[in-house]
Amino acid sequence: MVQKRELDEFTPKQKETILKRDDHKCVICGRGEKEGVELHVDHIKPKYLGGRSTIENGQTLCAQHNFIKKTLKQTETGKKMFIRLYELAKKEKNNDLKKFCADILKTYEKYNINGHIIWKR
Ligand SMILES: [Zn+2]
Repeated sequence: MVQKRELDEFTPKQKETILKRDDHKCVICGRGEKEGVELHVDHIKPKYLGGRSTIENGQTLCAQHNFIKKTLKQTETGKKMFIRLYELAKKEKNNDLKKFCADILKTYEKYNINGHIIWKR
């Protein structure tokens, strides 16, 4: 039981300790309850990568940055997929598909999403 909880969520006591350590502010934008934002305690290393529910692995994020963090992980897969599709379309000289993928990938670039995944045109 104890081990299971350790792998799951932070306990209320751990959350309180993490919030207090981070001064009840989002570690990215510095906003807090005073600014009217909702705060979450997030796993720095995500649970699905083996991140544990420890104080050291916890950080305070506002609802917005918590959402962005989760979404970026999801879009990472999407970006890789569109790069593969783009390369395939290029090889097959399928210009409509190539343009479609290029438009989507340009949107990733425009918003600087997953910039560490390089799209070679
Ligand atoms: Zn924030």
